[in-house]
Amino acid sequence: WRAQNCPADSETLGRATWTFLHTMAAYYPDTPTPSQEDSMRTFLKGFAQFYPCWYCAEDFRSDTTKNPPAVQSRERLGRWLCERHNEVNRKLGKDEFDCARVLERWRDGPKDGSCD
Ligand code: FAD
Repeated sequence: WRAQNCPADSETLGRATWTFLHTMAAYYPDTPTPSQEDSMRTFLKGFAQFYPCWYCAEDFRSDTTKNPPAVQSRERLGRWLCERHNEVNRKLGKDEFDCARVLERWRDGPKDGSCD
């Protein structure tokens, strides 16, 4: 009960945020217009500025400066984000995720229909 009603710590915030970001990337257009590409770049820039875990945001800004957002398509954005998440996974000593499965995880669900 308590945890549900307490402010989010960096783990709860991180899980919720990755869910949002990967789901957003999974529904990004296959062929975005230049204006949609600009909006996504602007969104990610603001996100990296205001993400409310300062040390997470600092590392994310430095990672995304080296690896600018790939906003050219759903496939590219999903893979880029997966790689950014894997960067954090490595830093925290967690398993890497297979980026070929990002749409299965965040959009389509497994072929056995267990999420339908
Ligand atoms: P999470 O890492 O939150 O992952 C949730 C689910 O996403 C997993 O169960 C898995 O199904 C799926 N997943 C895992 N990896 C990938 C991937 N590469 N691509 C697609 N899906 C994947 N915490 C810190 O302690 N220090 C930090 O510096 C830090 N930086 C962060 C930066 C950002 C931008 C964000 C959003 C979060 C950050 N976090 C950081 C939080 C951290 O990444 C985790 O969210 C948190 O530790 C909870 O981890 P978890 O094991 O529950 O799964």
